[in-house]
Amino acid sequence: MAKKRNDEMYCNFCGRGAHEVQLMLPGLNGCICNECAERAHEIATEYLHKVEDVKTADLDLKTLPKPNEIKHYLDEYVIGQETAKRYLSVAVYNHYKRLSQSKDDVDIEKSNIIIVGPTGTGKTLLAKTIARLLRVPFAIVDATVLTEAGYVGEDIESLLTRLLAACDYNVKEAERGIVFIDEIDKIARKGDNPSITRDVSGEGVQQGLLKLLEGSIVNVPPAGGRKHPEQKMIAIDTKNILFICGGAFEGIESKIAQRLNTHVVGFGASRHIRQQDRERLLHFVAPQDLRSYGLIPEIIGRLPVLTNLEPLDRDALRRILTEPKNAIVRQYTKLLEMDGVHLDIDADVLDYVVDKAIEFKLGARGLRSIFETIMMDAMYTLPSQKTTTFRLTRDYASQQLEKSHFEMLKNAL
Ligand code: ADP
Repeated sequence: MAKKRNDEMYCNFCGRGAHEVQLMLPGLNGCICNECAERAHEIATEYLHKVEDVKTADLDLKTLPKPNEIKHYLDEYVIGQETAKRYLSVAVYNHYKRLSQSKDDVDIEKSNIIIVGPTGTGKTLLAKTIARLLRVPFAIVDATVLTEAGYVGEDIESLLTRLLAACDYNVKEAERGIVFIDEIDKIARKGDNPSITRDVSGEGVQQGLLKLLEGSIVNVPPAGGRKHPEQKMIAIDTKNILFICGGAFEGIESKIAQRLNTHVVGFGASRHIRQQDRERLLHFVAPQDLRSYGLIPEIIGRLPVLTNLEPLDRDALRRILTEPKNAIVRQYTKLLEMDGVHLDIDADVLDYVVDKAIEFKLGARGLRSIFETIMMDAMYTLPSQKTTTFRLTRDYASQQLEKSHFEMLKNAL
């Protein structure tokens, strides 16, 4: 509190009196002169730049995971989907390379990605798993909430609000982040696409999105939602932001089939294509199909990497139950282990769970809810019993599922 001596204010940093400096700034418990304040500002700026430099240095290519390492990590959580995993690993690695290259080098363009695949096959899971591994900010956003300015919904720019939030509103960090846009098919142009029910023209939203994908400076509302005049905006340059888009593109198989049939006529292959399982047609998805589905050519041009996810077959579903690091069976085993109970599952229980997921058309998403329903009673009673082993048999599983009227509940999932 040595603020005043002889009623004169003194700087608590350099000790000079008010008469020796141009300006004295009083604080709660002391004072600072203009010169010390300027020096403090210089030191703070220097320090903060150093912190930023360290973050950039983090992107040293030598220490970054290589594409095969990224894929290996994905393998631990995502079953199958080999092609998509490879594409993603390369794209993310290249994204790092772009970020770590010096300015006067060859201009490496970013390769935004679009993943086409039925719902519940792992699009979001892939995105989330990559996010865990990354050293850049990452956000998952849903395209269904976006609308053109003037309609109810969120402005396109609000996509970047999540990214900003992911890095504590550090604009520099956000400008090199990755955004996963889910359900991109929902903004396809109406008319060409039978599955669209929204009445807001998808084309306007696509034009807005194009600006972000191309790389431009956009004003982002810090709290998301709708922009309004009094709000202070944050300017973000999207040039270095990598966009990964995902969508089910329901019904796109017929567009692919149409294209393949017209192209292969006369080469004896059309019969072969017609015999293909419709779902397998997704293998052949090409940019033209996205166009016939209702995405504008400019958007497709800005999403140069196109890959697909496979529908999950019985074998994949079975593996999902036990193999991923966070597989549902592993989780339950762990939960019971914490109560001193060993979970012993008969092999045919897993087949039963898979059969039910297929029968109820719930896919991978249903595996968890079916297994949880089966285990509910046991999880309730076992912790207070003296049991050390719980054997889960197929009979017990089917009894539990029938008792719960799961079939009735499944629509709510
Ligand atoms: P979507 O393709 O609709 O984004 P999700 O990634 O949300 O599907 O998948 C839903 C759930 O199903 C995931 O949380 C995960 O538990 C499971 N799942 C789906 N696909 C896979 C997969 N390939 N490997 C492991 N689990 C999967």
